[in-house]
Amino acid sequence: MLRAAIDMRLWLTGLIQALAVMTVALMGAAHAAPAEPPTGDGKPPKVAYLSLIIDDLGQSPEKDSRALALPGPVTLAIMPDTPHACDFARQAHKAGKTVILHMPMDPATGPYAWHPELPLPELESRLNAALLKVPYAAGINNHMGSRMTAEPVAMTWLVSELQRRHLFLVDSRTSAKTVAAAEAQKIGLASVSRDVFLDDERTAEAINGQLQTAIRLAHKQGSAVMIGHPYPVTMDVLERELPKLKSQGIEWVELRHMISIRGNQAMAGHGKNGVYR
Ligand SMILES: [Zn+2]
Repeated sequence: MLRAAIDMRLWLTGLIQALAVMTVALMGAAHAAPAEPPTGDGKPPKVAYLSLIIDDLGQSPEKDSRALALPGPVTLAIMPDTPHACDFARQAHKAGKTVILHMPMDPATGPYAWHPELPLPELESRLNAALLKVPYAAGINNHMGSRMTAEPVAMTWLVSELQRRHLFLVDSRTSAKTVAAAEAQKIGLASVSRDVFLDDERTAEAINGQLQTAIRLAHKQGSAVMIGHPYPVTMDVLERELPKLKSQGIEWVELRHMISIRGNQAMAGHGKNGVYR
């Protein structure tokens, strides 16, 4: 009887010691130092994050595949009213890329385009039809839309609809009057705003200039979101420059990662103290 009690006590002591060793090991792992090299001033290095979206895809297999082949976590924004939308969305998803619906908005035209004068049920049916053309869409961004994104009623409806569908919003900010990201922020919808358009001017010099602007902005404010188009000259610059990001102190991150990094806060260019105006 006594012998059995002693054996049991020894066994329990051993178990408790083993648990203590495991706990220490787990705590050690949780508190492990980050793998970043120390900087001279003793402060941890500041990481600058960059995300890249290519818009207007689905029109040409040649252009689409060049965007798909960019070396990193590029987000591919596919237009619903293009001949290859559906096929390309599947191909991009299979390749592990993030697909979003590039939603045409006024002054854009076409069967899916949103216009301020359309009633909400019509906006809804156009959104439904557009999403069917772009399977695997994780979110949406606006194609054009300088008129439409300034419409508070429609944008309020859109953000609650996206929330219901678990889709995120990228405000392309084609106009300073946009309220899309502000409405998203009000209800806590995962969203992010574009900071830099790469190729308003289609020359290699101008596009590289915009890319370097985005890199400087990322270092200054911690992150930057860029949008480009599948123009050959844009792809030339990106194919040449993207492999250099790491050496420029940039971490190129997938768009959902960017959304979590920013936590729905507005950058200084889009509002004060994190609140969109
Ligand atoms: Zn577009």
